[in-house]
Amino acid sequence: MPSSGGNPEPTKKRFEDLDLSGPMLKALRLAGYEYPTEIQAGLIPLAFEDEDVVGQARTGTGKTASFVIPILEQLYPHREKPGPQALILVPTRELAVQVSTEVVKLSTGQRVHCVALYGGKPIRGQIEKLRRGAEIIVGTPGRVLDHLSRGTLKLDDVWCVVLDEADRMLDIGFRPDIEKILRRCPSDRQTLLLSATVPPPIQKLAERYMCEPKFLNFSPKDLSVDTI
Ligand code: AMP
Repeated sequence: MPSSGGNPEPTKKRFEDLDLSGPMLKALRLAGYEYPTEIQAGLIPLAFEDEDVVGQARTGTGKTASFVIPILEQLYPHREKPGPQALILVPTRELAVQVSTEVVKLSTGQRVHCVALYGGKPIRGQIEKLRRGAEIIVGTPGRVLDHLSRGTLKLDDVWCVVLDEADRMLDIGFRPDIEKILRRCPSDRQTLLLSATVPPPIQKLAERYMCEPKFLNFSPKDLSVDTI
């Protein structure tokens, strides 16, 4: 783990052991996911326990489903939380599209709305989708901040924030935008951070904006759980 290409390596655990709902198990079967990958088996139970987690994992490990599954499983009914409940920040529009495709795939059979917010697309269409309501937002930091300053996006109901490919977001220079966005999210939220590498700037971000995060390492060299 992780695999160098193709499908990620499965574990001996089964999705049935992870306390998932019937509709989710069905969506996983339809997606062709038979067994959870290492990061899914490691992160999903911690996410259910409301822990903040730093997961060191590259693309190809099944990292996307590791945060999408617990988010989908814990969504509140619309009448209880009418605003977006989960905010997934990603470095690029390509990844925003990929992550929202995974949300759609794993929410098969459920009424879940996901909006992708990224630049290079007219903002009007995104505003209209936000107006109609969405439980899950996937976006690049610049465009998310743009919507926040226009008042077209509200984060008061957000209970989970994901920083996906956090090292790439910092490399691109998104740190100030990420910090502004995190400061606009409820402080009692859960924060999940995924990153291929965890250099000091990522550790600092985790120390500053996460609550006693558990550290899961799925990089090729070692597998471990720790508290940083
Ligand atoms: P990711 O690392 O999230 O980019 O996922 C890499 C690829 O693995 C994607 O094509 C996913 O659809 C696929 N995938 C994710 N989880 C599983 C699983 N448990 N079993 C088989 N394929 C999976």
